[in-house]
Amino acid sequence: MCGIVGYIGNKKASPILINGLLRLEYRGYDSAGISTIEKEGLSLMKDKGRVKNLYNIEGIDNLEGTIGIAHTRWATHGKPSKENSHPHTDNSKTFSVVHNGIIENYNEIRKFLSEKGYSFYSQTDTEVIPNLVHYYYTQDVQTDNLKLLRAVKNACFDLKGSFAIEIICKDYPDNMIVVRKDSPLVIGKGDGENYISSDIPAILSFTRNFYFLEDLEFVVLSRNDITFYDRNLNPIKKETKTIEWNASSSEKDGYEDFMLKEIYEQPTAIRETVGAKFSEDSKCEFEELNFSKEYLESLNKIYIIACGTAMHAGLAGKNAIEKLCKIPTEVDIASEFRYRNPIIDNKTLCIFISQSGETADTIAALKLSKEKGAKTLAITNVIGSSITREADYSIYTHAGPEIAVASTKAYTSQVVLLVVLAIYFAEILGLENSYITSLKKEILELPKKIEEALKNSEIVKDFSKKVYQEKDMFFLGRGIDETVAKEGSLKLKEISYIHSESYPAGELKHGPIALIENGVTVISIMTDSNLVEKTVSNIQEVITRGAKTLVITNQNIDVNQFDMVIQIPDTNPLVSPILSIIPLQLFSYYISKEKGLDVDKPRNLAKSVTVE
Ligand code: GLU
Repeated sequence: MCGIVGYIGNKKASPILINGLLRLEYRGYDSAGISTIEKEGLSLMKDKGRVKNLYNIEGIDNLEGTIGIAHTRWATHGKPSKENSHPHTDNSKTFSVVHNGIIENYNEIRKFLSEKGYSFYSQTDTEVIPNLVHYYYTQDVQTDNLKLLRAVKNACFDLKGSFAIEIICKDYPDNMIVVRKDSPLVIGKGDGENYISSDIPAILSFTRNFYFLEDLEFVVLSRNDITFYDRNLNPIKKETKTIEWNASSSEKDGYEDFMLKEIYEQPTAIRETVGAKFSEDSKCEFEELNFSKEYLESLNKIYIIACGTAMHAGLAGKNAIEKLCKIPTEVDIASEFRYRNPIIDNKTLCIFISQSGETADTIAALKLSKEKGAKTLAITNVIGSSITREADYSIYTHAGPEIAVASTKAYTSQVVLLVVLAIYFAEILGLENSYITSLKKEILELPKKIEEALKNSEIVKDFSKKVYQEKDMFFLGRGIDETVAKEGSLKLKEISYIHSESYPAGELKHGPIALIENGVTVISIMTDSNLVEKTVSNIQEVITRGAKTLVITNQNIDVNQFDMVIQIPDTNPLVSPILSIIPLQLFSYYISKEKGLDVDKPRNLAKSVTVE
C-alpha cells in the first residue's frame, strides 16, 4: 500500500512532492512526509495524519531543494506516529529513504545493526533500510561513482519481503536511486526533470512517458538521465511506454467525491472495456490471447482467484464460464488459495483478477499456479502492473483510473470482461448458439441501461436517509443475485462502517433469521425470473418478523409488500450484476455521506493491497 513520490529537476521539489502525495493519498493516509536535499544537507519533514498536515510543518515552505522523496503511509509495523512516518534516515543523517512494503526479516537486520552500534528510533521495519545502506556505504573502500548504488544493492540483497524504495543521499545531491521488488513503482520521464510514483495517475499531469521496472532492477536518476541496472549492476536499456489516459480522468470533474464520479463513469468504462472485442454479428476477439480449441477442451478446471470486490466479480465470471463453456470453474480467495496446496496441473487454467495489478496475495497465487504447471491469465486495469509481467496472458479492463478506495467501475468492468471472455472461450469451443447472440446484444446495450439504473439516485438517497443510523443490515439474493448481495454488503461495510452480512436467501432459515427483529433492514436483489418467487417468499419471512425491506429488481413483482422497490432495466442474468449493483453502490455512498464520513478514504483501508 502507501504512496511514494519522487522528483528530481530544476523546480522546487516540495510542492511537487506534496501535490503528488495528495493524489496518491487513496493508497494510505495515516501519516506523511518528505525529504529534500538542501544546501545544508537533508531536510526531513513528516507527521502523523493526512498529507495536508504537511502544510502546517514549520519551514516546509522554505525548502529550496530540487530533489526529494515523499511518502503517505499505510502502517504495517508500528502505529501511525511522527516517529514511524517516512522518510526514515540513518543514524548519521546521510540517507533518506521511503519504503512501500514489508521487510520480513527486519528484526534480524536490526539485531545485526544494533550489534554494530546502530540505534533505532521507530517501530517500523523500514528504519533498517537507511542504516543498512549506511553500513555498506561505509564498508566500501572504493570512491567511484557507483559507491552509493553498490551500497543500495548490497542492502537490498539482505532484505526479505517486498519493497519499493526511493533513496537520496546528502553526498549525491544530483542523484536519486530507486528499486522495487513485489511492490509498485513507476518512473515518469520529463524534460530536464524526472518523476517517481507508486501509481501512474499521480504524475500524469507532468508526463505521459513511463518506464516500468522488473523486480530488483536498480535505477539511478539525475535531472537529465535515467540509468537502469540489472541485479548485478550491469547497465541495461529500457523503453518508455506512453500512457494514453487523460490526466483529467484522475481529477474529480466537478463531482463531490471520486467514488460518485466513478459510479457515474460506468457507462463509459463498460463501453471501453468491451471496446471492439465483438459486434452483434462478429465473433469475440482478444488480440492478447491465442487459446486453441484443443487447449480449452483439455481443461478440467478453471480457477478464478482474486480478493475482495474482484473476487465478487470472479463469482459472476464463474457463472458465465460454466453456463457458456461447460467447464467446471471454482472461485477462490487469493490469500487462502496460496496456502492450501490447491490441485493444479497443466489441465488447469488460472485466471487472476486485480484492479491495480499489484495485489500481493493474488500475485503470489499466480506464481504458485505457474510453478504447478497451469497457464495463467491476468485481468487488471493497470497496464504494465506487476501482475501483467508475471502472467502468461493479460487482458485489460480499460476502466480508466479508479481513485476511490471502494471499487465501483473496476468491479462492473471486470464482470463484463469475464462474460466476454466466457463468450470468447465458448466460440472457440464451437458452442455458439442463439443464447450467446442475444447475450452479445445485451452486453452492447449495457452502457445505456446503466444510465437508466443511475436515474434511481434520488430514490436511493431518500431511502439512505431513513436507515443511515442503523447498526446492522442484511443483503440477500439467489444465484447470480447472491454474488451481488456479497458485493453490496462489502461496499456498505467499507464506506459506512455499518455491520452487514450477505446470505443466499435460502440459507436464511438455517441460522441468520434468528437475527431478524423489528426494524432491521433487509436488502434483496431479484433479477432472475427462475428464482424471483423463491426470494420473494424468503423476504416475506423477514417482513413477518418486522424487517424493513428494500428490493432491487427487474421483475414484475407486487411492489406493495415492500418498503421500497428500485426497478432496474431487464437484461441477461449473466450480466445483471452490472445493473443491480448500481443502486447498491449509490446506497453505500449516500449512507456514508449522511454519516459525514470520508467516502473516498475509508478508515483502515487502502486502494492497492500490496502487502500480504
Ligand atoms: N512497512 C512500512 C511501515 O509500516 C511501510 C508501510 C507502507 O507501505 O506504507 O512503515
